[in-house]
Amino acid sequence: MLEDAESRRRLIETVAQAVIDHADELTALDQAIGDGDHGVNMKRGAEAVLADLDDLAAKSLPEALKGIGMALVMKVGGASGPLYGTFFMTLGKSLPEAPAAADTLAAFEAALEAVMARGKSHPGQKTMLDVLAPALETLKAEPKASPGLCAAVADAAEATVPMRAERGRASFLGERSIGHMDPGARSSALMIDTVSKTLEAAAK
Ligand code: ADP
Ligand code: MG
Repeated sequence: MLEDAESRRRLIETVAQAVIDHADELTALDQAIGDGDHGVNMKRGAEAVLADLDDLAAKSLPEALKGIGMALVMKVGGASGPLYGTFFMTLGKSLPEAPAAADTLAAFEAALEAVMARGKSHPGQKTMLDVLAPALETLKAEPKASPGLCAAVADAAEATVPMRAERGRASFLGERSIGHMDPGARSSALMIDTVSKTLEAAAK
């Protein structure tokens, strides 16, 4: 489905634009339990990706993902930049040129593990991992873009609200981090939701 440059271009552009469109929401979440820069950070990364869109779309899918990861490491900053950068770069390194569903699952798993190693973190600590890990589990059951995946990541982001943060800036708040959605969980859910909907629409 992502064999041609045009469909890669559409996917990359749609996801970057969704991040830019939701920057204020991500910032508001980070204002509640962090330092209020998650929206600005992610928007800066998405704008860098858009600025490089022609080059990225011209690359194979694995190379494009590595390029996106590098742009995020360089531009997003904060805790999330290196973590999302690691996620996308590992996805790119792990995927063959023409991935089958099983390859996608294995690459997602490798990327998730790389983020955990980099962040010294695991699911249950109120971070992006609390969306990325359930997304992988959902994909294992149904290895396709689907409404089920969109619902699963939305529920997973919502499930970070009652959690107490144990990683990142929000952990400095201790008990006071409870009652707010984790900003990185929300940005992960947003990106997965957008990828899933764009791929589903393209498959019709
Ligand atoms: P910063 O916290 O440096 O201001 P951002 O605001 O851009 O960076 O990103 C914050 C998000 O990064 C958090 O909401 C959380 O999801 C994620 N995060 C922070 N630390 C970790 C970690 N060690 N492991 C996984 N995710 C983390
Ligand atoms: Mg922040």
